[in-house]
Amino acid sequence: MLDAVHGFCRKFRIQLNVKKTKVVVFGKKGTNHSAIYYNGRRIKEVDVYKYLGLLFQDGGGWAKQKGKMLRKARRALALARGAVVRGGNMSSRGKQALWTALVRPHLEYGVEVMCTLGDEKWGDLELLQRKAGRWILGCDNRLPNEAITGELGWLSLHARRVFLALSFWGKILAMPKDRWVRRVYEQSRRTHEARPHVKNWAQIVHLWLRNIGLEDHWIRQDTGDAWKTTARAAVELADQRSWRAGSAGKSKLRDYRRWKALPGWERYLDSRDEQGRRRLTKARGGILEVSEETGRWERISVQGKQVPVPRHLRWCEQCLIETEDLRHLLLVCPGYRKVRAEFFGQVAKAHPGLRAGRRALVDLASIHGSIGRHDVDSADGEALLDWMMSGKGQEATTRLLTELWLQRKELRLEDVEPRCDS
Ligand SMILES: [Zn+2]
Repeated sequence: MLDAVHGFCRKFRIQLNVKKTKVVVFGKKGTNHSAIYYNGRRIKEVDVYKYLGLLFQDGGGWAKQKGKMLRKARRALALARGAVVRGGNMSSRGKQALWTALVRPHLEYGVEVMCTLGDEKWGDLELLQRKAGRWILGCDNRLPNEAITGELGWLSLHARRVFLALSFWGKILAMPKDRWVRRVYEQSRRTHEARPHVKNWAQIVHLWLRNIGLEDHWIRQDTGDAWKTTARAAVELADQRSWRAGSAGKSKLRDYRRWKALPGWERYLDSRDEQGRRRLTKARGGILEVSEETGRWERISVQGKQVPVPRHLRWCEQCLIETEDLRHLLLVCPGYRKVRAEFFGQVAKAHPGLRAGRRALVDLASIHGSIGRHDVDSADGEALLDWMMSGKGQEATTRLLTELWLQRKELRLEDVEPRCDS
C-alpha cells in the first residue's frame, strides 16, 4: 500500500517526509511483523503517534490520550481556581462557565471517535468533574457524588461521551456512501456484525444504543428525525437512572432523595450570599456541620478506647436537649427562638398566600420561633421543612442559616441554660 502512496506522491510532486512518518502497530502485542519501508527507506516504529492532537498508541487503546487529557484538564482547572481566588467572590454560574468553557473541553476532545471498550467508564475523569463540582458548590469531599451532579444538573462525563458518539454516528449515517468516513464506518459495522467479539467503534456504538434502549435504530441503521433530541433524551434518562440508583443506599441523602427528584440546576445557587448558598447545599446534602455530623469525626474515650461519639450523644450545644440535627437546628432548638421568629415573620410577609394555602405553615404566626418536637415529627413539620429546603422557601432559608450560624458561633452555653419555655 505504501508503494501506492509513493506512486501517488510522485504523480502530484509531493514529498513524504520519512523522518516525520512513523509506524504504530495496532494489532495484538507479541505478533511478529516485518519492518515497513517507503521508497527504500525504513520507517521507524513508535509506541505512540500524535495526529490531529490525538495520541494513537500501539495496541489501539486510548490510555495515553486519556492521560494527556487529564493532565491538561487538571492544569486548566487549577488555573481557573487561581483566577477565581485572585478575582474574589464569583457566582456559581461564573465558576460553572469556567468549567464548561475552559476545562471540560480538554476531557472531550475527539472522544466521539474513540473506541474505549473494556475501559468505558473512565472513572478518573468523573473524579475530576466531581472535584470541579465541589469547587463550584464550595463543599469538601464529604458531599455525596449524587448531590454534586444533582444540584448542578450535570450529566456524567460518560453519558456526555455516549451522546457525542451517537451524534457523530447520526452524522455518518447522513453522509453519502462514497465518503471515506462512511466507508470506514461501514467496514467497521460489517466486521462487528460478522465477528461480534472484535472490539471496534461499531461495537461500542451498538452497545451504547442498546444500553439506552435505542437498539432498533441500530438494527435499522437509521436515526430517524431529530436524532440529537432523541439521543439526548435517552442518554439523560439512562444517566438519571444510575443517579437515582447511586443515591439509593446513602443515608446522608435520605432527605435529599425527597427534595430532588431529578438532577437540575438549583435556583438558590444563584444567590449572591456565598456562605449562605454553601450552607444550604451542605444542609441538603446531609453534611452541614451540626453536631450530628461533626460527631462522626469526634472521638471520645470509652474504657480507654477512642470511639466516635454515638449519635444520641451528639447533643446540641445550645440547649443540650437532644442530638443536633437539621430539624433541631431549623425548627426545634429553643436557643434560636429569636432568629426563627424574625424568619417566620418575614416569610409570612413575603408569602402572604402561604398560610392559607399550605397546612404546612398553619401555625406560622403562633409558632413564630419555636415549634415543639411533636410538630416537627408530624406531616406538617415535614412539609414545612420540605418547603424550606426545596420549595420557594430556599432563598429565605439561605438567609436563616446564615443568621443561625452567626449566633451559633457567638452563643455560649450559659446563655441558653436558664431559658424557660412556656
Ligand atoms: Zn438546641
